[in-house]
Amino acid sequence: MTAEKHDSFISAPDSHGKIIMEFSGKELIKGESDASSFPSGGLRATFEARGYTAWDCTSPAFVIHDEYGAVLYIPTAFCSYNGEALDTKTPLLRSMDYLSEEATRVLRIFGDTTTKRVLACEGPEQEYFLMDADAFAKRKDLVYTGRTLFGASAPKGQELEDHYYGPIREKIVSFMAEVNETLWKLGIPAKTEHNEVAPSQHELANIFTQTNLSADQNQLVMTVLKRVAKKHGFICLLAEKPFAGINGSGKHNNWSINTDKGVNLLKPGNDPHSNIQFLVFLTAVIKGCDEYASLLRESVATYGNDFRLGANEAPPAIISIFLGDELNEVVNSIINAGPLTNVRKNSLLRTGAKTLPGLPMDTTDRNRTSPFAFTGNRFEFRMVGSEQNIAEPNTALNTIVAKELKDFSDTIEKSENPKESINEWIKKGLTDHQRIIFNGDGYSKEWLKEAERRGLPNLPTTVDAADAIQTDKVTELFLESKVLSPTELKSRISIKYDSFANFAMIDSKTMSHMAHKQFLPAINSYLSALAKEGKELKECGLELPGSTVKTMKDIISLLDKATIATNALDDLIREMAPYKGRELAAKAKDVLLPAMKALRDPIDQLELLVSKDYWPVPSYGDLLFHTV
Ligand code: ADP
Ligand code: MG
Repeated sequence: MTAEKHDSFISAPDSHGKIIMEFSGKELIKGESDASSFPSGGLRATFEARGYTAWDCTSPAFVIHDEYGAVLYIPTAFCSYNGEALDTKTPLLRSMDYLSEEATRVLRIFGDTTTKRVLACEGPEQEYFLMDADAFAKRKDLVYTGRTLFGASAPKGQELEDHYYGPIREKIVSFMAEVNETLWKLGIPAKTEHNEVAPSQHELANIFTQTNLSADQNQLVMTVLKRVAKKHGFICLLAEKPFAGINGSGKHNNWSINTDKGVNLLKPGNDPHSNIQFLVFLTAVIKGCDEYASLLRESVATYGNDFRLGANEAPPAIISIFLGDELNEVVNSIINAGPLTNVRKNSLLRTGAKTLPGLPMDTTDRNRTSPFAFTGNRFEFRMVGSEQNIAEPNTALNTIVAKELKDFSDTIEKSENPKESINEWIKKGLTDHQRIIFNGDGYSKEWLKEAERRGLPNLPTTVDAADAIQTDKVTELFLESKVLSPTELKSRISIKYDSFANFAMIDSKTMSHMAHKQFLPAINSYLSALAKEGKELKECGLELPGSTVKTMKDIISLLDKATIATNALDDLIREMAPYKGRELAAKAKDVLLPAMKALRDPIDQLELLVSKDYWPVPSYGDLLFHTV
């Protein structure tokens, strides 16, 4: 989330010993703070403590009132004594400058002499779960990690699809009303809200704006969701995969490029085939996504998101682009230098009922399974994690597209026959990079094979993704664009490994703790209760039915597995001690995660066999159907 540093307005007492409250313009613009405990990925030693905050004056300051008074918040960038960025805002702002510069250059080639600035814009769709606060407090996994590490599926999941777009229940409506009001007061235009696919899952979208502002606003949205949830007796879960077996949460990142006059450069218009300027921008996106697919993938790689990407409701960890029928047709005709066949003109959708009006139809249907989909006038990057700061993926997007636009201008400005060179650049770009376009089912097994055949990188985990971007090409990209220096880039990668390893260690320790303190003792108690029953029955000349004895034997065998797995996990946690950085992250991925699964499996099976009176934590059913 964000970091906050709070100061009061008190300054030194005056000559009469009176306290003075003041706040100067200087303090508004620049702050100085101790940055030593902030993760810096080796950029600085602990004793080099000085850090600076600088107001991002394009992101308005705001005031939050609470029962004690009010706090003025100043959205700031944060850098070290040497000017190296310690935050995500600084690189994002740099990438926006780069994109603005290169996109304006392209516009000049097309004869636009008045546009001064081009803005990368973004609108996030934030998904989240609401839990009952009391049930939440009874689960150490939720408390420590924000997601469940154990839990057998409830008899009902999302198979009826009765939650999606279902009526929003009263308790939730009042929560959403307060969220909206709070956000509006902060100047955040929250717009869409509805139930999501999984039970207790919801979504909130605010209206798109320039990427730095949007990133700040999304951080506030997440903070407000959490704070208001508490007031209503809920806990808001932002984790990407809080429950096994049902959908996780993501954050669709709607991204477009707009001029300072409000013209969307990704708008195809009525005749995209002859809209050459649009085709240049489209080609830049396609080319950039293919050339820097690993970087895009890495920009959404977090420990939590690994559990979601590639699961059956989320895009796979492979980057591909969905264009839709109309643009696909245009792209194919350019590649094959053939005419357009099958052009679908905007038509009316007839419902068949006379009393309903004809509805203007979109030229393409939606594809829910694509990680990167063209949706009419923007691209929707769907791999972004629900808990993630959107600054990182947007920095990557802005930078790679700007880089391709630069390549375009460099080529055309040198050319003696610009018109021809423009067409050639488009054709070559689309031909060389058409392998990234995929309009089929991204969830299918066949796609994994097909993607491999096409040579598209499949980077299933954060560790793989962080490994994959350590290339000269990526370093060069960030260096040339001045978005990240090689040292800044290195520090960020090292933070990726560290945080992955930290989260895996916390999960493992939480699982071990819950097994020792809660599950194993509870299962033993239940077994001995059954055994006692058997003894009592014997005293009356009766005995436990054979089927019950069989259940007891099943429990004993699973209990044995669970105990062995707990001990094995404990041993592994101890064995991790000497490792750190990438090595620890890789070990966590290769050995800790499988060991965690080996413990979860028997415990989840046991949950279904052991009486609810004995089970020490609320079940998935208790957690997910609390508002019913
Ligand atoms: P859907 O559910 O159809 O994907 P929503 O209306 O829920 O769409 O949200 C779409 C998001 O996309 C909103 O945040 C919206 O502001 C944003 N958006 C709309 N147009 C653009 C655009 N041109 N550029 C960037 N974001 C946009
Ligand atoms: Mg969407």
